[in-house]
Amino acid sequence: MNRREMTLERRIERIKNELQGLGELRPGSLSEQDNVCGVAGCQCKASPPKKHGPYYQLSFTRKGKSTSRFVRREEVAVVRRQLKNYAKLRALVDEWIDASMELSALRVEQQRDRAGKTPHSSART
Ligand SMILES: [Zn+2]
Repeated sequence: MNRREMTLERRIERIKNELQGLGELRPGSLSEQDNVCGVAGCQCKASPPKKHGPYYQLSFTRKGKSTSRFVRREEVAVVRRQLKNYAKLRALVDEWIDASMELSALRVEQQRDRAGKTPHSSART
């Protein structure tokens, strides 16, 4: 095994370990908004207005279907952590795929070298 192969294998091991340590997952994004109400004379329509909120809205897409729902203020910290874990998962998987593709390309190349040079062996496919 050459140096590059070893580096890639170690990277993949590290990624797997990190994946194992990931906590709860939640895809999507959280947005904050301030609302106005319909009550006459409410401070939300004063000038300058003092709007109600913030309200937290979670939007996400699963299996091609987009959904959004409100998140309670006391749940926000947990939801943020779950969103962060999910983003981390995606980044790790992406990194794993890249490392894995490079590793298999290296191995195919080595196998071809071992099988002996053919007239076109230097041409990458
Ligand atoms: Zn109001």
